[in-house]
Amino acid sequence: DVCSSDLYPYQSKRRNVLNNDYNKEQNDKNDDNKNNGNKGKNRNVMVLLVISVILTLLCWRAYDKITNGTKKEIPYSGFVEMLDSGEVDNAEIYAKKIKFTSKESDGTLDKNTYVTVRISDDKLADRLKTAHEKYATTYKGKDESGSAMVGTILSYVVMIAAFYLFLSLVTRRSGMMGFGKSNAKVYMEKKTGVTFADVAGEDEAKESLTKMVDFLHNPKKYMAIGAKLPKGALLVGPPGTGKTLLAKAVAGEANVPFFSMSGSSFVEMYVGVGASRVRDLFKQASEMAPCIIFIDEIDAIGQSRDSVRGGDSEREQTLNQLLAEMDGFDTSKGIVILAATNRPETLDKALLRPGRFDRRVIVEKPDLQGRIDTLKVHSRNVKMDETVDLRELALATAGAVGADLANIINEAALTAVRSGRSMVSQADLIGAVELVFAGKEKKGKLLGDQEKKVVAYHEVGHALLVALQKHTEPVQRITIVPRTMGSLGYVWQVPEEEKYMETKAELEANIVTTLGGRAAEELKFESVTTGAANDIEQVTKTVRAMITMYGMSDKFGLMQLETVQGKYLDRNAVLQCSDKTAAKVDEEIRNQLKKAYDEAKKLLSEHMNALDAIAQYLIEKESITGQEFMEIFNRVENAEQNVEQE
Ligand code: ADP
Ligand code: ZN
Repeated sequence: DVCSSDLYPYQSKRRNVLNNDYNKEQNDKNDDNKNNGNKGKNRNVMVLLVISVILTLLCWRAYDKITNGTKKEIPYSGFVEMLDSGEVDNAEIYAKKIKFTSKESDGTLDKNTYVTVRISDDKLADRLKTAHEKYATTYKGKDESGSAMVGTILSYVVMIAAFYLFLSLVTRRSGMMGFGKSNAKVYMEKKTGVTFADVAGEDEAKESLTKMVDFLHNPKKYMAIGAKLPKGALLVGPPGTGKTLLAKAVAGEANVPFFSMSGSSFVEMYVGVGASRVRDLFKQASEMAPCIIFIDEIDAIGQSRDSVRGGDSEREQTLNQLLAEMDGFDTSKGIVILAATNRPETLDKALLRPGRFDRRVIVEKPDLQGRIDTLKVHSRNVKMDETVDLRELALATAGAVGADLANIINEAALTAVRSGRSMVSQADLIGAVELVFAGKEKKGKLLGDQEKKVVAYHEVGHALLVALQKHTEPVQRITIVPRTMGSLGYVWQVPEEEKYMETKAELEANIVTTLGGRAAEELKFESVTTGAANDIEQVTKTVRAMITMYGMSDKFGLMQLETVQGKYLDRNAVLQCSDKTAAKVDEEIRNQLKKAYDEAKKLLSEHMNALDAIAQYLIEKESITGQEFMEIFNRVENAEQNVEQE
């Protein structure tokens, strides 16, 4: 219908604006980056260009002079006239032109040289002869090819030189042909301006890095006592937890320059480029020592050499060069190399040997206090009104990393500006959390009435089971507005406090809650939809983990049946039992899921009135708060109790 097709383009435009706003900082950074790395180079290019243009012009001028001199061109008729009247002093006859000097009619010499285009003139020889006899005009024939050759060759030389200059400029810029020459995108900051105060939480990481700072301040103190100085440390942690920020803070605290380069930008198409970039980076850095070299995503080059199938010689060369540089540089200069990765287990052992990245600094996802601090750091310059409660926000963002939190504050500020307010409110912040984790609301009529109804019952099914069971976290919001990241609706729960473990009872209650969506659909509509796919995936994982890893199954007891490999990004479980046991585990998972699903259906079927009432309200409002939800729930429940009592 018209409405939605009108709204969609508008919305996508808004999203772009929003993204641009957020990315602005990033872009600026990139620009800085380029400028820093290429400023010198750009100047060189300009100088070369100007010189080549001037040279070319000079050459053309010189060529011009040689071939034409300061000659006056006159028509042939003029020449004949001058010849006949005795004004020609000395003539050189070429095949296609005639060059001559003149004298005044009174016989004194005139400095001018003339040239005229020779036309076929039968009487020329006679005229010259007469002039010679009458006025002592001298004349001789000349072979044209000599001087013409010089001119032609010269013009070729100039052209080739200009072309070569042009080509060398172009290729240097694009890096297409400069094999030997590296154009590494080194990002250098003389002063990062970041201090440890800008990094919230991460106290353990800061503590171990403080030692580096002291070393950079005063390397001689350490040398004097004979201490071996640290060369490098590996910052290990998930993306967005502030590894780059910490490295910058080390540079900022030590007041030394900060060189940074991403591991992936070392490795390029051509073999040898990466290695030359590594050399270049270290050369630049050692000129500025003491300093910090930061290599982001070091796993891009440092991947274990055995694990790369078929051998990747470019990566290997780059890695070898890095190892060589690390071994080669003199620690007394005060260069510290920090590298970041989120998969330390994939790194080549050679990188981790003593004298290289032998120290590890773990950068974890922030806990509750860490999140509160991060929110505080990022809201330092943001005007916020009295409704704002950063603790509540931190509770609602369990699992978020620093980058997410920074993003949330910024999105909230943008929302406030867009709605014409001068301060950020808690509602803005909550909205920003949803925006960051679930995507933007899709405006317009996306779902049909029936679909909307199904989604509403599904979500209220989850929420009701939260309210009906102990051991679950209170509901913050229920919404059935589809989001750009793909959800059609969700129930948002916020814990009252941060949890580091979960009890068996909590896990079981969660499983029942998660199955509540599908249960509500089945109870109300007697048919089910695809909408529960995520729920099913999640509960299956939980039940499996309870059985195979947490020792929470009566049937299998404390036996570990699975191990998890990969701590950060791709956690994958590997079975540690026989096929027979595995089949039994599957069987047990099926049983447990069925039990939980039956429980969900039983609980919901006892509260169908509440389900209907809340779902109806949700369909009208599309988004409701936990409070509204509880009010309706209590009203319906009380009414039912009264009916029973009468
Ligand atoms: P990583 O290098 O670990 O992927 P970054 O250091 O690039 O993460 O973090 C991205 C952004 O997230 C930082 O610029 C900063 O704004 C924010 N951030 C991340 N962690 C923190 C933190 N602990 N304290 C403050 N800001 C943080
Ligand atoms: Zn669901």
